[in-house]
Amino acid sequence: MPDYDAIVIGAGCGGVTAGSLLAAGGRSVLLLEQSGEIGGCCSTFERDGYRFDAGATLLELIDPIERAFEMMGTTLASELDLLTIDPVYNVVLDDGSSFGSPLSVEGAGEAISRLSAEDGKSWKRFSALFDDFLDKALEGFFLRPGGTMGDLMRIGMENPGLMKFAPLFARSYRDVIEKFFKDRAVRQSMAYQAFYCGLPPGLAPGLFAMFPYSEHRGLFYPRGGMIEVPAALARCGRKAGMVVELNKRVEKLMIDGGRVRGVRLADGTEITADVVVSDIHAKTLYLDMVGEENLPWLARSGIKSYPLSASAPVLHVGVDYTPPLSAHHTLLAVPMEALDDYWWNYHVKGLMPDSISGLVCCPTLSDPSMAPEGHHSLDIILAGPYGLKDGDWDKEKHRLAERAIEHLSKTSIPGLKDHVQMLEFSTPLDFERRLLIPEGAFLAFEMNILALAAFRPSARSRSIKGLYLTGSSTHPGGGVPTTVASGVIASRLIDRYEG
Ligand SMILES: Cc1cc2nc3c(=O)[nH]c(=O)nc-3n(C[C@H](O)[C@H](O)[C@H](O)COP(=O)(O)OP(=O)(O)OC[C@H]3O[C@@H](n4cnc5c(N)ncnc54)[C@H](O)[C@@H]3O)c2cc1C
Repeated sequence: MPDYDAIVIGAGCGGVTAGSLLAAGGRSVLLLEQSGEIGGCCSTFERDGYRFDAGATLLELIDPIERAFEMMGTTLASELDLLTIDPVYNVVLDDGSSFGSPLSVEGAGEAISRLSAEDGKSWKRFSALFDDFLDKALEGFFLRPGGTMGDLMRIGMENPGLMKFAPLFARSYRDVIEKFFKDRAVRQSMAYQAFYCGLPPGLAPGLFAMFPYSEHRGLFYPRGGMIEVPAALARCGRKAGMVVELNKRVEKLMIDGGRVRGVRLADGTEITADVVVSDIHAKTLYLDMVGEENLPWLARSGIKSYPLSASAPVLHVGVDYTPPLSAHHTLLAVPMEALDDYWWNYHVKGLMPDSISGLVCCPTLSDPSMAPEGHHSLDIILAGPYGLKDGDWDKEKHRLAERAIEHLSKTSIPGLKDHVQMLEFSTPLDFERRLLIPEGAFLAFEMNILALAAFRPSARSRSIKGLYLTGSSTHPGGGVPTTVASGVIASRLIDRYEG
């Protein structure tokens, strides 16, 4: 008799969702996490009384999270206190001007119309297109197995309305935005969101042009920090009997006759199970834990061929004043072409960015409990590569932090540098060390057209029986709701194939 029905490796959003659903379905489940806490890229930590989000800072398209809770016999509303974020951003353009982008679709349209009447009209067509897409895709595509061509054909046959959106996969994000919008400022305000799929506008597939619209369908922040999402999912799993063990690093999968039999931990302990679910990076899973000797040639070369996604340096700052910010999120926007250049100069060539762009998040404006009274917490997501051409991150991070604080003090957050009480800088290298994610690639693989759906590693391993994948490495890819969706998919596949 195996020790457990299922072992889950990694307590990111995908792992806790799959584990909790399997436990709720009556299976005995062991969730193993190598670090001291759950959540992975969706977690919150405390320093000197300030609370910071380590990775993810915003929640949109929450339908998969609602679905996961419903499958556990509860509701999102009873498990999570989600605060609505309105406006979506204060957008600061490269010429120093700024405007607020209200949450409501109509309000956003009015803000765009003030920049360009013509683009204001286009916003109506743009939002209608992606509204229609999301109505069909959230259930029909994002929550369905998409790991094989057969899965994709089934999705197409069961959701014929989705087929008309197929051309969006063949165009770039930039093409789609530029087709709808002509004004420089409007285009600029929609450029950065391409990075929510880890690619610049010129390389991101056109379907991700949904982001500048989808955030207006609802933007949320969980009271208490982003950790509340995996914490609530894990709480439901624990109630159903899921055992969670922290500081337990899995080193190897035990494989016998092409079927997984369990895992071996770094301390040598062996634990057996009928099924193993992996929430870790699929390159590490297949090349290190399964081992090349257990993989057919095609699977070996396939997994090696995926380019890793981008990472991001994140600056966490605690301040003893109220920063003059008008919104929870401030978007430090740059033009589409600058983001495409960024990709080649910084991500590909490894140069240190010479300008400061990204997202400033001030969660204390929505949830004051994230800092001591009268103080605020800031999470500043910057641009920067994993591998630096000159120098290394441990030395360079202080220089980039200083430049960022100086720049923000002069531009969007006057007074910042005089009020810093606490500063911590998490580089791509730190993400790799802390979460064992190769190169800190938080979306696992580039979300390009050749690494989506059936082209991404399959949720049900094709090489090893009894092995299932969740998280950013598999369909529908990186992001909090999408990795929760991957957990739903894995649990459904296990119910279907493992009895
Ligand atoms: C800076 C940043 C900003 C982001 N912003 C957003 C956002 O605003 N909104 C959004 O939706 N998404 C955002 N994301 C993306 C999102 O957070 C991730 O895609 C998602 O949380 C990844 O979940 P996952 O299930 O793939 O697991 P991960 O978060 O990758 O977690 C995997 C877990 O496995 C553990 N592990 C690794 N190796 C082992 C081992 N050998 N044994 C045991 N355990 C192991 C790790 O410690 C980790 O806890 C952001 C990410 C980052 C980094």
